[in-house]
Amino acid sequence: MIFHPDIYERPAAEIARISDGLLSETVDRAIACSPYYGEALAAIGPVRSRSGLSALPTTPKEALQARPDDFLAVPAREIVELVSTTGTTGEPVFVPMTRNDVERLSETERRGFSWLGAAPGMRFHLAATMDNLFVAGLAYHEGLRKIGAAAIRVGVQPAQRHLDLMRALRPDGIVAVPSMMAALARLAREAGIDLRAIAPARALLIGDAIRGADLTSNALGRIIEAAWGSELFSTYGLTEAGTAFHECAAHRGLHIHPDILLAEVVDESGAPLPPGEAGELVITTLQVEAMPLIRYRTGDITFVVPGDCPCGRGGMRIGPILGRKAHRLKVKGTTVYPKTIEDALVAIDGIENFVLVAECEADGTDRLLVRVGTRRSADAAFRNAIGETLLAKARVTPEIVFESPASVDASLYEGGRRKPRTFIDRR
Ligand SMILES: [Zn+2]
Repeated sequence: MIFHPDIYERPAAEIARISDGLLSETVDRAIACSPYYGEALAAIGPVRSRSGLSALPTTPKEALQARPDDFLAVPAREIVELVSTTGTTGEPVFVPMTRNDVERLSETERRGFSWLGAAPGMRFHLAATMDNLFVAGLAYHEGLRKIGAAAIRVGVQPAQRHLDLMRALRPDGIVAVPSMMAALARLAREAGIDLRAIAPARALLIGDAIRGADLTSNALGRIIEAAWGSELFSTYGLTEAGTAFHECAAHRGLHIHPDILLAEVVDESGAPLPPGEAGELVITTLQVEAMPLIRYRTGDITFVVPGDCPCGRGGMRIGPILGRKAHRLKVKGTTVYPKTIEDALVAIDGIENFVLVAECEADGTDRLLVRVGTRRSADAAFRNAIGETLLAKARVTPEIVFESPASVDASLYEGGRRKPRTFIDRR
């Protein structure tokens, strides 16, 4: 494996040359070593540049779920880690990794941490779990080790434990999911704790978008910024790709690491879309040994950010994840992603938590129910305020029912889930 940590500083033609060389290697090796690609790409000649990429068939997640062993491109004795996706849509995918694949993962996170200012001597509060086959916890731990900064492996703990440890150890940074940061802010406010006095200077946020389509902070991002005062850095990781995308200090989209991964945003037919247009994110892994993926359909909707990043780094950037393709709703003629509705709900005072439930109407359209957890009296004024916000921000008027926060929580974490499930699809 050859990493190019300075790849972003090189001229565009040089970045393309490096990516193209690694792509060519990836395709040749996948055809030779992975039974799935040996079959799927048998009739297709070598691919020598990214312009030839769109001629290749896309790889659906279903293929990976149905024939995982056929994607393995190394002997079993070379596998040192097995990680898995959460299985938000369908069966979880188990991803094998070699020692070099773990090294590739570490290098990506080293870059992400260095962009947010991590340095030797610093300490980071890691609120991402290391266990349950979760790749991100491992990635952050490895990334910090490469930086030379200290990892405080807190994992998933009660809110009070997080606050106690932050007060005792004063970390320079935190890695967490945005909803946890918002929940900690609420608890600190209720308990009269001055969060800003113990808040780390920077936070790396994974799992949910903290930016809107215009790349500025969305409601969730603004809530966290106001309560913590930390500089927020968004990141988007993909278990199957064994890597992540990172925001730089300019906060203008998520940079791709061009010697680690290639990305495209495509329409239904798999044809690449122009910058700014939303479609499905498709990735091709570079320098992966155990399970290389070529034109893998992630099921996530985003767009290529047009223009150059003010930070000066070259290579492609993507916007925030706007939603899951499988979760796209058609409510009374309006197409909407649950994420848009969730972003709007987060900003409404008095809503503690929520779950969206989609069902199929007799006429084939989608019926959407919003279960709102609140301690407020559920009067008509509150209901109207929610209705108006959803109409303004998401252009939908779903049914709203009020419940206790505990009853909503029970649905969010039903079956001991690792991440709260805010969208229940019964269609
Ligand atoms: Zn940048």
